[in-house]
This record gives sequence, C-alpha cells and structure tokens, in this order.
Amino acid sequence: MKKICIVTGGSSGIGLSIVKKYLAQNYSVYNLDIQPSKKGHHIPCDMSSYQQVSQAITAIGNEHGIDVLVSNAGIHFSGSIENTTEEDLDRVIAINVKGAYAATKACLPFMKAKNSGSVIYIASDQALIGKQNSFAYNLSKASLASMAKTTALDYAQFNITANAVCPGTIETPLYHKAIDNYVERSGADKIGVHQEEAALQPLGRLGQPEEVAELVYFLSSDNARFITGSLQVIDGGYTAQ
Ligand code: NAD
Repeated sequence: MKKICIVTGGSSGIGLSIVKKYLAQNYSVYNLDIQPSKKGHHIPCDMSSYQQVSQAITAIGNEHGIDVLVSNAGIHFSGSIENTTEEDLDRVIAINVKGAYAATKACLPFMKAKNSGSVIYIASDQALIGKQNSFAYNLSKASLASMAKTTALDYAQFNITANAVCPGTIETPLYHKAIDNYVERSGADKIGVHQEEAALQPLGRLGQPEEVAELVYFLSSDNARFITGSLQVIDGGYTAQ
C-alpha cells in the first residue's frame, strides 16, 4: 500500500517540488491549495479556513491514513510594524500560522493511530534571524519554529517527529513576486536586484526548490527517525554570517 503525504500549497514553487519528490518516491500525494495543479491529488482548500483544512484532511485520513504532513503554504508581506495594518497581520498569521496549526491538528489523530508520522514545517531563515521590512512574515516564521518544537515534544511518545525547514532565498514565484514589488516601489533595475540577491548569499547563488524538497523528504525518511524538534537551515550559508 502506498504511503500518504499531504502537502499544503503544493501547486507552485517549493510545494510543487515537494509534491513531485514524494510522487517520485511512490507516495500518494494530496495537495491542499487554492490554485489548481496537475501534480498529485489537488484538493481546493484555503489554508486560512480552519473548517476547510480540517474537513479535507479528515476525509483523506479516514480513507487512507496519513504518514507525512508538509505544511508549506505561505504568503509573504513586506512592511515594518508601522506599515502593516491589523488586517495585513491577520491575513499573514491566518495562512502561515493558523493554517499550519489546523493542518497539524487534523493529521495528528491519524499519525497517533499508526504510532508513526512526520510533520515538516516550511519556515524560513527568518525563523532564526530578522530581516528589514518583514515584520508580519518574520513573526509568522518564528511561530512555525516554535510549533515544530512543541509538536515534537508533545508527540514524541507517539513516534511522531516534527521539524522545521528554514530555507534562505529560493528561486520561486513568491521570490519573483517579492522582487517585482520591490522594483516597482523603488524603481531599481530588476536584473541588478537579482544579481545583488545572488551575491548576498555566501555560495553566490539562490537556492532551488528541488534542493529544499530533497531535505524535506530526508526528514520523513527512515534515516531521519532520531531527528525531531530541529530547525534545518538550507540557505547557502546566509545565516552563518
Ligand atoms: P509560492 O508563492 O511559489 O507558492 C505558495 C503556494 O501556496 C502557492 O501554490 C499558493 O497558491 C499557495 N497558497 C497561498 N495562499 C494559500 C492559501 N490561503 N491556501 C492554500 N494555498 C495557498 O511560494 P514558495 O516560494 O514556493 O513558498 C512556499 C513556502 O516556502 C512558503 O511558506 C514560504 O514562506 C516559504 N519560503 C520561501 C522562500 C523563498 O525564498 N521562496 C524562502 C523561505 C521560505
């Protein structure tokens, strides 16, 4: 019988690479996303709706059980505290944090029933360090690091591991959108900004979504059963500086 992996936000970027990786490893993959996708089983679901998330996951769990949850869906928002409205903050927290909470909560009963499971949160290097103009996003990613640790501790007794992957700058549609917004606001040269971004990384390049997918898959593999409650940095050396 195929193992079951749930990926949130699996229609684009890092999530799409994760869906492809688990499909290649012969998993049955369910992708909860507001955007359609041809890879895996797409379930239309808004991560900011507790009801939609728990209904979708409970239906999958009841039918097939659940082995792996990759909580990946997330949005970026640029702004200092003063430039972030309460609505902006609520939206980022609703998707990035409460979505992860809802997905984890819905998966855990099925993992407990098997006495086995892996939960992987796609956080960010911003779970570890602060970046300018990134108040709400930074807060949301630090929260995911906390969620990985507390979930790891509470569910170790059920042989369920929980870890956070902390990518640096990865070349995805979200990255391109963030650069486009910056270029529009500042009038900076787009190619120059991309080159500067690459030069900011000690390895001199941006990360690729497939590289993140490899790490995520490893964390759910039998070789990683002693790894839990950890923050796994994959950032070309950025946070080592
Ligand atoms: P992306 O924008 O390419 O993909 C995000 C996916 O999430 C999309 O398919 C989108 O439809 C989905 N999504 C957004 N809002 C949703 C909602 N309300 N409900 C369901 N699905 C929703 O972004 P990405 O760069 O692949 O980012 C994926 C994750 O990785 C995010 O959590 C992001 O914060 C994190 N991350 C990205 C980078 C980077 O540099 N790209 C770095 C660190 C962390």
